Amino acid sequence: MSFRERLTHLLPEARRQLLVGGHWVPASNGARIDVIDPADGSVLTDVADGTLDDARAALDAAVAAQPDWAATAPRERSEILRRAFGLVTAHADDLALVMSLEMGKPIAEAKGEVTYGAEFLRWFSEEAVRIHGRWMHNPAGGSRLLTVRKPVGPCLFITPWNFPLAMGTRKIGPAIAAGCTMVVKPAAQTPLTMLLLGGLLAEAGLPAGVLNIVTTEDAGGLSSTLMADPRLRKVSFTGSTPVGKRLVEQSAGQLQRVSMELGGNAPFLVFADADLDAAVDGAMLAKMRNMGEACTSANRFLVEVSVADEFAARLADRMGSLRVGRGQDVGVQVGPLIDAKAVTSVAAVVDDALARGARALTGGQRVDGAGFFYPPTVLVDVPADADAVTAETFGPVAPITTFTSEDEAITLANATEYGLAAYAYTRDLTRTLRLAERLETGMLGINTGIVSNPAAPFGGVKASGFGREGGFEGIEEYLDTTYVALPAP
Ligand code: NAP
Repeated sequence: MSFRERLTHLLPEARRQLLVGGHWVPASNGARIDVIDPADGSVLTDVADGTLDDARAALDAAVAAQPDWAATAPRERSEILRRAFGLVTAHADDLALVMSLEMGKPIAEAKGEVTYGAEFLRWFSEEAVRIHGRWMHNPAGGSRLLTVRKPVGPCLFITPWNFPLAMGTRKIGPAIAAGCTMVVKPAAQTPLTMLLLGGLLAEAGLPAGVLNIVTTEDAGGLSSTLMADPRLRKVSFTGSTPVGKRLVEQSAGQLQRVSMELGGNAPFLVFADADLDAAVDGAMLAKMRNMGEACTSANRFLVEVSVADEFAARLADRMGSLRVGRGQDVGVQVGPLIDAKAVTSVAAVVDDALARGARALTGGQRVDGAGFFYPPTVLVDVPADADAVTAETFGPVAPITTFTSEDEAITLANATEYGLAAYAYTRDLTRTLRLAERLETGMLGINTGIVSNPAAPFGGVKASGFGREGGFEGIEEYLDTTYVALPAP
């Protein structure tokens, strides 16, 4: 069976529809969205293009399911999530293939995302039974204070194309655990993984209406329609900062609670006392995970001047030897970018740096031929105000700049509107503690190129947004508190 035949087998037309109130239904006007294979630009398949009426119907279903779902025993919610973890894990190969086809990432990386994404289901299955309030004596005496935790209510989740599974389970997992119902709108370019996940959650026993999925090309229309509805109580968004800002403004109308996981411009600091081999290994992970199309991607490298040439040469050697190609081919380490616009935007960032005097040690030029490919690129002598340093590149480009002191490194690292992730390589423990205190970031990796972990609070500061996903903090985003004042018994 070819990959495409397997895709059609996994997601026949009856399943490439909207999930509303437990039923797979076509768009009310019958419209479809083409899903493109980024490895060659051809049409892979299509899905329903939901209308605003469909979006309203999905919210109606979520609202109708909310009371019973909130009243469902935490253990039952927990066990549904635990079964979903098992099913996602058992179907890892299918999910990885679908994700690789629609998004481009190599199969091995897609499997890594399945493991990561599934862990949110397991983690929150464990959190579902640990929701508790407080009983305390009034400090002044004479009365008691009780707090009760409740699900916030129906949620809207909007997810990006770069991690089609994990960006969904990070929201769906805690919402199920807390007793919330939801409407999920996956990215129009990568809707298939979410449709597959929706089927697995139903198989795990999730009641009809708790999870509704609306694929659509009218993201703005869907969000403004649903967010104008007072029954929607929470919006969690992962995507770009400009769209996030618009959603925060929109949330003011009905004062919905919001979580915003937005863009990043992660600095990767290498101090002269670092283990350089480890720093290059970490740089490869932090830069090349997901072809650089990750919010946590190391966007700029700040290297202490005495080790900068050595670090740049070793990184260029490793980046230049990566195998680029179709994500489903054996041995491929770097897949295509998501679309032609992404290639143009990455090429513009590199061209800007080169025009300002930077040098490419490897890569630096588009690849001819079908598909949306850009080669791994290492740039040195990059001016601090080049787009490669100041903007989120979202591609396989590593611009290297230098510093001469810890203070300068911290100043440069903080010189961005973003604050999602940062990385530092050093063997100095007290410096590590100073970095943790002084870097304006939601997450800091010390001597590691990966910060994401379902048991840790993922999220940013400044223009990278607010709210946390994963960790003990993740479920808090989906719980309200009622405080009850009582007389002393
Ligand atoms: P995007 O353009 O903001 O799209 C993200 C999602 O928002 C998609 O589902 C998109 O739908 C939808 N959307 C677009 N316009 C909208 C509107 N007016 N109202 C409501 N929804 C709208 O971002 P992207 O290019 O897909 O993703 C890349 C960005 O996401 C990067 O900046 C990256 O750093 C960020 N990101 C952040 C995190 C994090 O956890 N902090 C994780 C991953 C990615 P369509 O698909 O139909 O356009």
